[in-house]
Amino acid sequence: MSHSNKEMISFFLTTKCNLNCIYCYTNKGTFEHQSQTLNLDFAKAGIDDYYETNYRKHIRFFGAGEPTEEFDLMKSIFYYAKSKDINTTAEIQTNGCFSEEIAKWLAWNIDIIWISSDGTPDIQDYFRPMLSGEKSSVMIEKNIKYLIKNKCGMVGIRSTITESNYDKQIQMIKYFSKLGIKNFWVDPVFPSIGETENHNRWTFDMGRFTEKFIEAVKYAYSKGMTYGSILTCNFDKAGEIACRALLPVPHLTTDGYVSACDMALFGNDNNHMNVFIYGKWDKDNKKIIYYPEKIELLRSRVYHKMEKCSKCSIGPFCRGYCPGEVTNETGDIFGCKTIICNPTKIIFNRLTNDEKKYIFFHP
Ligand code: SF4
Ligand code: SF4
Repeated sequence: MSHSNKEMISFFLTTKCNLNCIYCYTNKGTFEHQSQTLNLDFAKAGIDDYYETNYRKHIRFFGAGEPTEEFDLMKSIFYYAKSKDINTTAEIQTNGCFSEEIAKWLAWNIDIIWISSDGTPDIQDYFRPMLSGEKSSVMIEKNIKYLIKNKCGMVGIRSTITESNYDKQIQMIKYFSKLGIKNFWVDPVFPSIGETENHNRWTFDMGRFTEKFIEAVKYAYSKGMTYGSILTCNFDKAGEIACRALLPVPHLTTDGYVSACDMALFGNDNNHMNVFIYGKWDKDNKKIIYYPEKIELLRSRVYHKMEKCSKCSIGPFCRGYCPGEVTNETGDIFGCKTIICNPTKIIFNRLTNDEKKYIFFHP
């Protein structure tokens, strides 16, 4: 189940969003891609190419904004993929704020639904308010209850951990489990793309996070639930690469590029994330042009060739950590985000083998 095996094609459907999250890593307030939407012909060509490979026929809807804001486009892509292979499975990462009509369609058609939410209503409403200024927690609770009641697949929570909620991880599990949730992923907040001056703005006491995280994993496991993090997502199996970004598998961007990573949302102004852009939509000839040298570079990011990681005691289980965050924060895909090294080792050594197993891949 290691996260690096998460084979799928992702669609960055739109930059539109109905929330105004404080730490939004797309830098929504300043970026220049307002209301940009993925081209349907590009999406279909991406599916055609991807379905010629042996990778799992799994499609996923993701940001940069909220994918359900482009509901008709989502359905068109979904039905096209199903027409190519009826056994296609589907996944979405959503902020959980959508209408009942959308909730109904998701419940019937999407196998894995990850809802981004940061915890109890006080925290959620502070960090993730609606664009209108209203509380988002009310709609999220309603939609979670609807999906759990009407769904055969899985609904899980993906939370961002900040100084405000790292002490409250067990409280969060209790709150969401009352709504019917059984699977959780939590990730420490990281700097926005291109945010070089304020990289320290979001750092917090990783030691304290680590202790509270371990308690939360053990609590969740004792109740039959799973609780993981980007730090632990490859703990269950030794391997060489940290993420699907290094296979790579495609993530189609709203500005017409093929990205390898959720953090490289645009091809044009990719800031320092250009290493992940490995193809481009040629709209005149209606085909995707891939960059073989970029694919080769991504595939070469194996932990045993990285200076620090090759000597690390947990190298095969961390594998150099998330290449997106490492590149964003060090400027080098082969770099090292040293702040996570000790916490990751502590967590690895304190969890049992069973507590390192996950039923669903990291979102
Ligand atoms: S953000 Fe990290 S874990 Fe996510 S796709 Fe990019 S490299 Fe992989
Ligand atoms: S813990 Fe640090 S040194 Fe070890 S593999 Fe992970 S990133 Fe590399």
